[in-house]
Amino acid sequence: MNYQHHDIGGCPIDLPVGKVVCVGRNYADHIEELNNETPQQPLLFMKPSDALCDVSQPIEIPVGLGTCHNELEIAVLIAQTLKNADVESCEAAVWGVGLGLDLTLRDLQSQLKAKGLPWERAKSFDQSCPVSRFVPSSSIESISNLSFSLTVNSEVRQVGDCTLMLWSIPELLSAISYVFTLRPGDVVLTGTPKGVGPLKSNDQLSLDLDNHFKTTTSVV
Ligand code: ZN
Repeated sequence: MNYQHHDIGGCPIDLPVGKVVCVGRNYADHIEELNNETPQQPLLFMKPSDALCDVSQPIEIPVGLGTCHNELEIAVLIAQTLKNADVESCEAAVWGVGLGLDLTLRDLQSQLKAKGLPWERAKSFDQSCPVSRFVPSSSIESISNLSFSLTVNSEVRQVGDCTLMLWSIPELLSAISYVFTLRPGDVVLTGTPKGVGPLKSNDQLSLDLDNHFKTTTSVV
């Protein structure tokens, strides 16, 4: 895999490809949909750099491991190192935002959760994080006020709005920086709204980020 971050015009971004830090349970409607408890602090997990791939390329789903769910999320590309950082410095350290799919082998995750085991087998496999191109921060009025949606086979499946997050993007980045140092080229996935569901072969997906872009893809 030769993944590289790209800007909205298709130019490679001069940042390395780092890890992906993901946030779970950041929207009340999705917590309800999976009967999860509301966390007292952001629920964090990671995907390695090999999880990253280009969402516009056909999505490959692991075979023989049960259902694979879509979780469409705002993806934040980090431009500066953040360690124990306050909310304001976090906002300034964002290169830009795009959309990412936190592909989740839901059956496997349910089995792991029931046994109290880590989720990596269900969420952190190679190419489990297809991401779009990134819109630079300078073109975005506020990263705390973005809406996005996922359409599968012409039906709207997920609609998200940053204003409905339990923790805003800058708050999440600050909280994460107290646990994991964020480095230039890292990506943060900021949680999924409700509407997760199984992806199937030949599904046609459309990912929309406000008036910034629409990108289409398909499942192999
Ligand atoms: Zn997720």
